[in-house]
Amino acid sequence: MIEFEIPAEVEALRERVREFVREVAIPAEREDTEEHGIAPELRTRLQVEAKAAGIFAPQLSTELGGHGLDMRGTAVIFEEAGYGLLGPPALHCAAPDEGNMHLLDVVADADQRRRYLEPLAAGDVRSCFSMTEPAPGAGSDPSMLLSRAERVDGGWSISGRKWFITGAEGAAFTICMADSEDGPTMFLVDTENPGWRVERLIDATDRVFTGGHAEVVFEDCRVGEEAVLGGVGEGFRYAQVRLAPARLTHCMRWLGAARRAHDFALDRAASREAFGKPLGELGMVQERIAASELDIETSRLLIYRCAWELDQGRPARHESSMAKAYVAEATWRVVDRAIQICGALGVSGDGPLARLMNEMRPFRIYDGPSEAHLWAISRRALRRRAAERETAETP
Ligand SMILES: Cc1cc2nc3c(=O)[nH]c(=O)nc-3n(C[C@H](O)[C@H](O)[C@H](O)COP(=O)(O)OP(=O)(O)OC[C@H]3O[C@@H](n4cnc5c(N)ncnc54)[C@H](O)[C@@H]3O)c2cc1C
Repeated sequence: MIEFEIPAEVEALRERVREFVREVAIPAEREDTEEHGIAPELRTRLQVEAKAAGIFAPQLSTELGGHGLDMRGTAVIFEEAGYGLLGPPALHCAAPDEGNMHLLDVVADADQRRRYLEPLAAGDVRSCFSMTEPAPGAGSDPSMLLSRAERVDGGWSISGRKWFITGAEGAAFTICMADSEDGPTMFLVDTENPGWRVERLIDATDRVFTGGHAEVVFEDCRVGEEAVLGGVGEGFRYAQVRLAPARLTHCMRWLGAARRAHDFALDRAASREAFGKPLGELGMVQERIAASELDIETSRLLIYRCAWELDQGRPARHESSMAKAYVAEATWRVVDRAIQICGALGVSGDGPLARLMNEMRPFRIYDGPSEAHLWAISRRALRRRAAERETAETP
């Protein structure tokens, strides 16, 4: 039986997060004017307030200072945090730190936990995840990985170029994917390593991720054996550990942002009149409102469904692909419809929609573009049907 009942303690936490987002995170958006990510001082101030409110890093285990939420509880809370653009960084549940904490929690050994996970979980440092490479390297197709890790005396030498590395500027360490003679491997690299450098910050439509997005270079970057995260040659397997939940948590947060866009459009449709009646009484506006209601509800159900699979301890690859492919497109449709309903106000800085549009657009590309997920979904469907034909169970 699939169970979506929200426990009382999660409901109570949701109320506190909702109040924090309304009273603290959304008003702070006025101060958030940096080009490449939220200013470090603003992020720190918001995190101090989130700690005081007892809502900091709620997804983490209680040993790491969180609320020990399961994935369904996380879905409820992250949607609420995502209602404000600064909710996720304030609550320390934004990418890439959130995904990195999850990966480290599952894979890191005792020393790595002490050195990397504990300070990251406390919010004392930031991290980044270095996988994507500029052409002709790995993007949607991870097998095109060009970064190399060679065995040297006492450890490894990593060389390669990565781009769109969110949060690289100002991070204390990165998790880097590089190919080795034994296959793709993940390494923990301190950013004070002389073999690592941030080459440039990339202008992008979004600007809410702390540190922005950077092109980075690993040049004869020397690390010891203890830098290997998990096993040598296990990089792609661990990438799945990170990516399936991480793409789902993106869905949760952006669903909150889509709900905010929709609420703004609903308020406008009720208050603005044209042709002698409120916009909300015009049929084509009503159709857009209904379509967005359906997109929001369907997105939430796909997220909860995948969260439930993950809570059963299953990898949920198919479910997370379906959620990512659907939610990225659906939340984009919601914000686009909201803008259309609001007319010129929608594309102005007088409301939140223009910024939400810029922040949400890249979600259709990162953590696998929609097409890559649709492709994977259809391949699984074809395989499933082929297996059914083989066993001839289905006529
Ligand atoms: C804002 C942002 C933040 C990011 N942060 C990080 C980060 O922190 N760390 C990191 O490692 N990476 C990060 N990325 C990179 C992101 O994961 C890649 O952009 C993504 O995997 C796609 O790779 P690509 O851009 O090279 O596109 P390409 O691989 O060049 O693909 C281009 C397009 O081809 C089409 N396509 C791809 N596959 C298929 C298919 N199977 N069938 C049909 N069409 C297809 C899609 O339309 C796709 O958009 C970030 C990207 C963005 C935009």
